[in-house]
Amino acid sequence: MSFVRMKGETLRRFAYTQIRMGVDTPIVVYAAQEAQAVEACRAAYTRISELEQQMSDYRVDSELNLLCRDAVGRWRRVSRELFYVLWRAHRLAQQTDGAFDPTVGALVRLWREARRTGQLPDPQTLQAARARSGYRLMELCLRRRAVRLKVEGMQLDLGGIAKGYACDHALRVLRRYGITRALIQMGGDIAAGDPPPDAPAWRIALAEGGETTLARGALSTSGSTEQFVEIGGARYAHIIDPRTGLGLTRLILARVRARDGITADSLATAAAVLGKSGIQRLQRLYKGAQIEVWEQAS
Ligand code: ADP
Ligand code: MG
Repeated sequence: MSFVRMKGETLRRFAYTQIRMGVDTPIVVYAAQEAQAVEACRAAYTRISELEQQMSDYRVDSELNLLCRDAVGRWRRVSRELFYVLWRAHRLAQQTDGAFDPTVGALVRLWREARRTGQLPDPQTLQAARARSGYRLMELCLRRRAVRLKVEGMQLDLGGIAKGYACDHALRVLRRYGITRALIQMGGDIAAGDPPPDAPAWRIALAEGGETTLARGALSTSGSTEQFVEIGGARYAHIIDPRTGLGLTRLILARVRARDGITADSLATAAAVLGKSGIQRLQRLYKGAQIEVWEQAS
């Protein structure tokens, strides 16, 4: 435990970790009292659990999955949080011509099956899943905060955007408890508030080695290097290339710095699909973000 004196008040560093949305979720905060840190972090984890119940595609009874069953051919009103994330995802889908697409759930399910069985889906199965994917099949009504799906059996998937959004909310909760110096990580998504009292920024270790710094912003990493299944000599990553309906096969790592987690997370997933040659347009649209892509020459 480190101690830092500031303006007559001693701030101490507290670190916790729990599993949320299927990943380790460490939170580090500076607070005057342990009780304050404990209470604030508990509230932050609770908030993330609530968001998970809204947005998870793994939980049968999540708001997202109920929506998939309920909204076919009719408008369904959803919670503010779910609507906002669906709206951001849909907008990014339009901006990337569907490279980022929150309706790829049916294809993600096939990928998970392939990981289990070691076999690619047969062409008919793949075709059927593709017919149930495509952001144009999801309609949003801002005025009514409602969603309508055009095709039976569609599966929405917010795996490429929800963790970043959850990080943003966690920081917000901590602030309500008087904690501004905080850092949260959910898998490849990191969001930071103010830096530690004795440093200009948080130091972040990078998966590929080395480190970087972060303060009052978010940093997300996406790519094909961590989660993939190997079939017939090819590697299929857990990020779907909507053009093929299969996992990305080229080796790619995308990293995005942005003002908030929802932006960094979703842009990193989008950039992983778009590749080096496709990110310029995205960069022009999101001027405040810094998008980097490393790609194996093919
Ligand atoms: P991670 O889940 O490892 O943090 P990402 O943020 O890149 O990585 O998100 C990958 C997840 O996004 C997948 O597990 C899946 O749920 C979802 N997904 C897969 N392909 C796409 C896509 N083309 N557009 C949007 N989301 C996708
Ligand atoms: Mg992402």
